[in-house]
Amino acid sequence: MRYISTRGGIAPIPFSEAVMMGLADDGGLLLPEKLPQATGEEIAVWRRLNYPDLAVAVLSHFIDDIPAADLERLVKKSYAAFQHPEVTPVVKQGQCHILELFHGPTLAFKDVALQLLGNLFEYLLAKSGGRMNIIGATSGDTGSAAIYGVRGKERINIFILHPHGRVSPIQEKQMTTVLDANVFNIAVKGTFDDGQAIVKKLFGDLNFKQQHQLGAINSINWARIVAQVVYYVYAALKLTGEGKAAQVDFAVPTGNFGDIFAGFVARRLLPKQIGQLILATNENNLLTRFVKDGDYSVSGVRPTSSPSMDIQVASNFERYLYYLNDQDAQRTRQEMEQFAATGSLQFDPARLQRIQQDFASQSADEAATKATIGDFYQSHDYLLDPHTAVGVYAGLACRRPEVPLVCLATAHPAKFGQAVEAAIGRPPELPPPLAALAKLESRCQVLPAEEQVIKDFVAQHAL
Ligand SMILES: *Cc1c(COP(=O)(O)O)cnc(C)c1O
Repeated sequence: MRYISTRGGIAPIPFSEAVMMGLADDGGLLLPEKLPQATGEEIAVWRRLNYPDLAVAVLSHFIDDIPAADLERLVKKSYAAFQHPEVTPVVKQGQCHILELFHGPTLAFKDVALQLLGNLFEYLLAKSGGRMNIIGATSGDTGSAAIYGVRGKERINIFILHPHGRVSPIQEKQMTTVLDANVFNIAVKGTFDDGQAIVKKLFGDLNFKQQHQLGAINSINWARIVAQVVYYVYAALKLTGEGKAAQVDFAVPTGNFGDIFAGFVARRLLPKQIGQLILATNENNLLTRFVKDGDYSVSGVRPTSSPSMDIQVASNFERYLYYLNDQDAQRTRQEMEQFAATGSLQFDPARLQRIQQDFASQSADEAATKATIGDFYQSHDYLLDPHTAVGVYAGLACRRPEVPLVCLATAHPAKFGQAVEAAIGRPPELPPPLAALAKLESRCQVLPAEEQVIKDFVAQHAL
């Protein structure tokens, strides 16, 4: 399987190169030349596999340049870091099958992809003899999953900037109690946007980028998408088959469109077993407007109780646009350039019809999110985190009565204690890994929000 760019500007490359490239060199996003479909025989075999073995089988459709035994070792190592024997268990609660994606080391679904990505980076760098300095800015949640993905890895250092005093105590502790020598937490005296702007400048300085082999770990890396395809397949095969339902629908709390795009790829693999993909948004409902009205226009970001979905533009949207354009890279590039210039794309009725065949969508405002957490707790004695609650709300709104509804649970409720407390009147209990954080030693560098200061710090500590 080789990889091409949504903008058509690179020669096809193997998976390993796609992982190391991240963003395509022509500014587009990388995609497989052809999306695979599983055969009936394969599906019969897959139904009997545990999560890590299923992951190897699914990934093998997308990765043919890593020897099978190596891939198996990397996958097993990645998912051994999860607390639950099933890795991503499915639990029935009322009308929803909750797909719990939060059993990884930081209790967030991003672990599913970042554990594998960290191991892939280490493996590929060992092969090439290279090194990598990962730099990223976080508003709280992604940073810890990225840090846990690469802590202690050879040939990799990671620098994560967070806004000093502006992330929740749990989030701060999750990041700063990782004491491995290759992990550098930087608390920037400023906002998340200040940190983000500095990171962009460091990547924009091509000399600096080259000299220090800067790497990114954001959600546009293809390896992250493909790792997420696996749990859709896992849940779909668990709930369908002889004597069970024919197909299932998925409700997906969406921000940057990475997770739901993984669902789109999974449905190409299993077109019979996967039905509706329900794209759930919070008050930042750009993508719901896109699905309902064919209007993809930026507006300001409003902070909500589900911060990982507070996005202005969806960084993986271009991947779907490419398929909507019947893989016309020229048209995709033109439209993305138009979007960059005007902040808006409009879709005509013919394309809107296709979009609505591909996705259903519903947005949940803050009141609906809070009510969903409260109602779900009352009815099922089960706590949803606010991101998951947005998905459950949208899922129930778009539910087809005869089709099992799988709702993706993207974070453990204890990570968003304030929102949960506001909904049910008491804070959630902390699971042992979070309760233990308070007592752990932490390490963090506090620096001013100045490009040169951060640059000097990175240069001094880079591999
Ligand atoms: C990142 C994140 C999301 C959104 O996922 P995308 O792939 O960006 O659409 C939803 N919930 C949680 C908890 C997240 O961390």
